[in-house]
Amino acid sequence: MPGILVVAEHRNGKYRRVSLEVLSKARELAGPLGGSLSAVVTGSGVADAAAELGAYGAETVYVADDAALGNGLAAPHVDVIAPLIEQQSPSAVLIGATAMGKDLAAALAVRLGVGLNADATDLSADGGALMASKPIFGGQNIVQCGWSGDLALALVRPNSFPAEQSGGSASVETLPVSISERAGAVAVTASKPTDEGVISLEEASIIVSGGRGLGAPEHFAVVEALAAELGAAVGASRAAVDAGWYPHPHQVGQTGKTVSPNLYIACGISGAIQHKVGMQTSDVIIAVNKDEEAPIFGFSDFGVVGDLFEVVPQLQQLVAERKAG
Ligand SMILES: Cc1cc2nc3c(=O)[nH]c(=O)nc-3n(C[C@H](O)[C@H](O)[C@H](O)COP(=O)(O)OP(=O)(O)OC[C@H]3O[C@@H](n4cnc5c(N)ncnc54)[C@H](O)[C@@H]3O)c2cc1C
Repeated sequence: MPGILVVAEHRNGKYRRVSLEVLSKARELAGPLGGSLSAVVTGSGVADAAAELGAYGAETVYVADDAALGNGLAAPHVDVIAPLIEQQSPSAVLIGATAMGKDLAAALAVRLGVGLNADATDLSADGGALMASKPIFGGQNIVQCGWSGDLALALVRPNSFPAEQSGGSASVETLPVSISERAGAVAVTASKPTDEGVISLEEASIIVSGGRGLGAPEHFAVVEALAAELGAAVGASRAAVDAGWYPHPHQVGQTGKTVSPNLYIACGISGAIQHKVGMQTSDVIIAVNKDEEAPIFGFSDFGVVGDLFEVVPQLQQLVAERKAG
């Protein structure tokens, strides 16, 4: 190329939002890094969606559409994407940090023998070289990382950048699909969505979370009602998850998910460091807690000292009124 290649993930008939966010950011970086911007989409039934990526800045979209790429496993995708990288030699390959993206990036790093900067929350061009900002020590510090090799491979955290259309169009090139015996050795025999219709925590732009302050599992209904009004995902503290009040996939924090939404509303959560590291990069944090000394108020943008069972339903009511009016 040289240039930037974005691996776009397409699932359930649409692109993961993080892929479009990464592509939008890559468009901004392609000039300073001195190269073109391409995307690759691999999967089953993805061919028709390839050209869509032109609207987000991709000049060329490489597409591999094959049933063998539709089983949710990363290995077959590596067999298609690694040869493309070797052939095109981009200076950077950017992947959204979804479950699939993480799997794929790690496997690509091993296959290509390159370094992987995981968990990037920002990307910049420094004298023609890509730099990634990423949190370390549980989010206590942000470090700037570069790459010592020729290829910069990065996993980018969802909600780090806006997804913005540029109005461009892309040329589409079809890739050959040749799956190795090793990659084809694992088969998925059955799959079942766990949370059908539920907004994914990592990609949500708004999250409403509940903690031990809810007092009982059935009280999560208060959090869910506000979340539904806002079109938000529901999160939970570990205390709430450990108590069996909410499922673990919703846990935010050191031993749960790291999230970075535009708005994070914490209800009855004290703000322990292990919770903080999972949500502190949210753009706006609102805390509702009856204890004015709760640590969460120390890193919230807005705080309401009060009983969540009074405050949260009122907030929900206000949102409903605004939406109606
Ligand atoms: C190795 C390790 C990993 C961990 N990983 C995580 C993790 O991933 N995520 C995580 O969250 N925690 C994690 N923890 C646990 C963490 O230390 C805290 O124990 C936990 O976050 C506390 O959850 P909480 O804020 O819901 O509960 P609490 O700390 O008990 O806080 C409850 C809050 O609710 C408020 N409250 C009570 N009633 C009301 C009411 N009616 N209205 C308004 N406010 C009310 C109280 O004032 C209090 O501040 C981890 C701990 C360890 C040791």
